[in-house]
Amino acid sequence: MPELPEVEILKRSLKKKIKFCKVAKIKIHNANLRYKVPQLINQNLKNHTVLNVSRISKYLIIDFNFSKKLLIHLGMTGTVHLVKKNNKKYTNASFYHSSSLPKKHNHIEIYFKNNIKMIYNDPRRFGYFKLFEKKYLLNNLIKNLGPDPFSSKFNYNYIKKFIQNKKIKIKILLMNQKFLGGLGNIYANEILYNCKLKPTKSVNLLTKKNIQNLIYQSRNTLKKAIKFGGSSIRDFKKTDGTSGNYQHNFNVYGKNNTNCPRYSCTGSIKKILISKRSSFYCPKCQT
Ligand SMILES: [Zn+2]
Repeated sequence: MPELPEVEILKRSLKKKIKFCKVAKIKIHNANLRYKVPQLINQNLKNHTVLNVSRISKYLIIDFNFSKKLLIHLGMTGTVHLVKKNNKKYTNASFYHSSSLPKKHNHIEIYFKNNIKMIYNDPRRFGYFKLFEKKYLLNNLIKNLGPDPFSSKFNYNYIKKFIQNKKIKIKILLMNQKFLGGLGNIYANEILYNCKLKPTKSVNLLTKKNIQNLIYQSRNTLKKAIKFGGSSIRDFKKTDGTSGNYQHNFNVYGKNNTNCPRYSCTGSIKKILISKRSSFYCPKCQT
């Protein structure tokens, strides 16, 4: 499932390539995504210019020059690809999945007037496109989301207040989108490993230092993934078609029964289920 770093990289790629570009036409091959793609999307966006591309949590937002906003959510398997007219791949904004594009899953194609085509590919079709006429409608959708990990609102006082009188497991806290917007299973596991905190630890036992470290490691872990993902996308341009390999950089996610990668730790990674989600941790150095 695409997580925050993937959406952030997608945002940056799109900003570079389609900001100030005019839409020539939009082709919908399959409107049956999680929500039906608006019929009028072509009519509404044709001949309008992209003013900005931004990200809120895992939502990608494309602003147009007439106050309409297009929201894209990648669901479980959505990927966005930019292709130049001569079929030169600009980017495969997916660094976890194969970059091959089975054509039958190319559901939406946006053609820009500078000969760039943006393809939305989604085998499981859990992603969606929504068009917002007014800003407050978009704000309504995201009002229940917690702060972005990089936002200054994600700070010690905020966390302290949020966890007051709660006795939930820290992994559940991190995955709660009302607490923190955009974090998924992969990075919740990786962040807790980097904090040396076991995923089942109750939040009422967190010290001030634990909380400060949690903020630092949340940003640091995501920043590294964004940086590495960005460079793996640059590699796609060179090699054109090899799959993303960021998963090789995970410390614990998907690594059950392997040695703990922490220097001087002799533990091995264990897999447990927390709220039906796989959780990976080292019982020796995560306490
Ligand atoms: Zn360890």
